[in-house]
Amino acid sequence: MNQITKPLIIANWKMKPQTMREASRLFEVSAAVAKKHQQNIELVVCPPFIYLTKYQHLDRSSYRIGGQDCFWENPPTGGAFTGEVSATMLKEVGAKYVIIGHSERREYFGETNAVVAKKCAVALAAQLSAVLCVGERERTDASSYLSFVKQELEESLALVKKPYLARLIIAYEPIWAIGTDEKPITPKEVLEMNLYIKKILFGIWGKHASVIRIIYGGSVAPGYAAQFLTDGGMTGLLVGHQSIKPKNLEKIVHEIACI
Ligand code: PEP
Repeated sequence: MNQITKPLIIANWKMKPQTMREASRLFEVSAAVAKKHQQNIELVVCPPFIYLTKYQHLDRSSYRIGGQDCFWENPPTGGAFTGEVSATMLKEVGAKYVIIGHSERREYFGETNAVVAKKCAVALAAQLSAVLCVGERERTDASSYLSFVKQELEESLALVKKPYLARLIIAYEPIWAIGTDEKPITPKEVLEMNLYIKKILFGIWGKHASVIRIIYGGSVAPGYAAQFLTDGGMTGLLVGHQSIKPKNLEKIVHEIACI
């Protein structure tokens, strides 16, 4: 895999915070943290759509922004898809990244691998970097969780074209390790999955897959975030609830920047 790029830290705010004021403050904190460590990490902030446009005037020179989702179609003139946001619209407001197929979208909005595959394809075609989330709900026996992730990857990547691979990021998010402040997964288990995902990607695209980044997307907290990179071989993190706690965001970014 390509190790030249800086570690990637993607802050997924999910459906938070509730007020513009808090969002503004979070942008400021994120910008300050990113600026301090910009030589060593790349920070991507993925707020709810509404804040992407509201705070367009803020200085974003030290970090990038991304969407948490996009629609699976992207007609040139938009379309009659009430409530949806297109990949082109994201691009238009300055987003460089978009999270696709997050487990919460799969669970609450019924997104299947077929839907996720279409979203990946439109996001990449719109010149965005697509952060494809995959991960098992539970680990019963070894073969079933591995084959689950394999199927998710193969089906979700079915429409991705080779020239776009450099803008593809795989976020491994074991669902059982999300929404917690404990460390339910070991760096060794993360390394195992990292190697397994690489094997699948190489199986699909051969050596061309070497440009695809693989990041860890289960919960992390200050104190052990860096282990998923140093011992788990990941090239970054997808951070949920800790990314909207300013002090913890600062600590996590600091730990990764000091690797
Ligand atoms: C996630 O949803 O991918 C995630 C890691 O969330 P949290 O950090 O809140 O566990």
